[in-house]
Amino acid sequence: ALRPLVAGNWKMNGTRSALKELVAMGEGYDAALRAKVDLMICPPAPLLFTAAAAALGSRIAIGGQDCHTAASGAYTGEISAEMLADAGATAVILGHSERRQYFRETDALVAEKAAAAHRAGLVAIICVGETQAEREAGKTLAVVGRQVARSIPEGATPETVVVAYEPVWAIGTGLTPTTADVAEVHALIRRKLVSRHGKQAAGIRILYGGSVKPSNAKELMSVPNVDGALVGGASLKAADFLAIAAAY
Ligand code: 13P
Repeated sequence: ALRPLVAGNWKMNGTRSALKELVAMGEGYDAALRAKVDLMICPPAPLLFTAAAAALGSRIAIGGQDCHTAASGAYTGEISAEMLADAGATAVILGHSERRQYFRETDALVAEKAAAAHRAGLVAIICVGETQAEREAGKTLAVVGRQVARSIPEGATPETVVVAYEPVWAIGTGLTPTTADVAEVHALIRRKLVSRHGKQAAGIRILYGGSVKPSNAKELMSVPNVDGALVGGASLKAADFLAIAAAY
């Protein structure tokens, strides 16, 4: 099994007062937990620099939630991968379903952003996942397979890319797929990664995301090819996030 990664996506939640949760996570990330699992928190951009400083001693990694494709330039409101790295991030979430849905991000754009992350030395956490309508239409494997093929850039390695499978209908709903469904999709992602990026892609971590909680983490994390979790709501509180990490 690969060394698991439990990453928290704070989305557009958290002001400076939320950093006390990050500090509490650092305190709870003790030697026993560090021996088993990598932890990461992806706060909103204004908190990145301070969060990275607050997390320094704890070895919790800090990531961004999106980046632009260019390193710098006249793109008002945007943030480059280089800027995330400069602020202390070591990774960036890309192609989250909320970005695909609300900001019309395409697979091609996500792949371009992943290349930008690579250029800046950031790990790209690339999200894929079907909508409820796609699942009901029996298109889950086709949709996820296509997203994996098109959103992940050439030359992906375990050091540069993490994939996160997040069924859109499971995000923030309390619903989760069955372990058999998770196993089927993660196996498909693994096959696609290895056929396109070679044997070394067996080492690329594939996270599950969507309503991961302390109560279901153990079951979800025991599914083959599930190498960790991408956690939304339950990553906002140190106690919940640490309980999920402790599922390993
Ligand atoms: P929830 O854990 O709140 O369902 O969110 C999952 C998610 O979108 C993480 O990126």
